[in-house]
Amino acid sequence: MPELPEVETTRRFMVPHVEGRRIVAVELRHPRTGRRHENPADIVDRLQGQRVDRLERHGKFILGRLGSGLTWVTHLGMSGRVLIASPDDPEIAHTHFWARTDLGTEIRFIDPRTFGFVAVFTPEELKKELKLGRDALADLPRSPQLAARLSGRRAPIKSLLLDQRIVSGLGNIYADEVLFRARVRPTRPGGELTTDELKKLRAAIVAVLREGIEAGGTSLSDLAYLLPDGQAGGFRERLFAYGREHEPCRRCGTPIERIVIGGRSSYYCPNCQK
Ligand SMILES: [Zn+2]
Repeated sequence: MPELPEVETTRRFMVPHVEGRRIVAVELRHPRTGRRHENPADIVDRLQGQRVDRLERHGKFILGRLGSGLTWVTHLGMSGRVLIASPDDPEIAHTHFWARTDLGTEIRFIDPRTFGFVAVFTPEELKKELKLGRDALADLPRSPQLAARLSGRRAPIKSLLLDQRIVSGLGNIYADEVLFRARVRPTRPGGELTTDELKKLRAAIVAVLREGIEAGGTSLSDLAYLLPDGQAGGFRERLFAYGREHEPCRRCGTPIERIVIGGRSSYYCPNCQK
């Protein structure tokens, strides 16, 4: 389930292969991968022959700014990943989209569960379709602004951290890690966090995301997410909470507990997190 660190790792890997390059061939293989377009064939028409000026990221989206003013959007969804390949590399199952540059490099989009998508949007479509909040890494609100956003909210802080309109880029894994480091229990109503806790929360978001990127993201045992060269991201070994039910807390030794919040598994230490 790629989140900001996995998406940022993917983007950084893609930059030397894509930025300044012209897209010379494109194929969309699966209709669901193109579902954000009324007419998915627009993706091919709009991308073919275009130069990719810059490759940016906002939240969980990779944004390729094209010479035409359109934006090539890649969203990895739950199980999507990008593979950088050459045309004669054997194809991996579930390759639903590929684009070839004038250097002969192929950017392949592999997505077994098809929750991800590829799109090429006009500026108006981009605004309407993605509804982006403030990026959790590049544009994280200061703690007084976070306080204003959470003020009066009864929802669990875990759910509020997953709300992409509040901060964009966090998902289930990193939200649990952020709450562990800030020592805040995931069930706490967002509006009840103290000024001190909000400061710790904000600092934890920055630290966890930076470390996640440095480690190349988190590849779980399903290996759904891999770096674009096929390597696994190494942050899993550095997780304190996520996926560690019944295992001893790395800080105090108390077994980590799992509860379900808003339909998502949430892991926390009942001793460290208040
Ligand atoms: Zn603990």
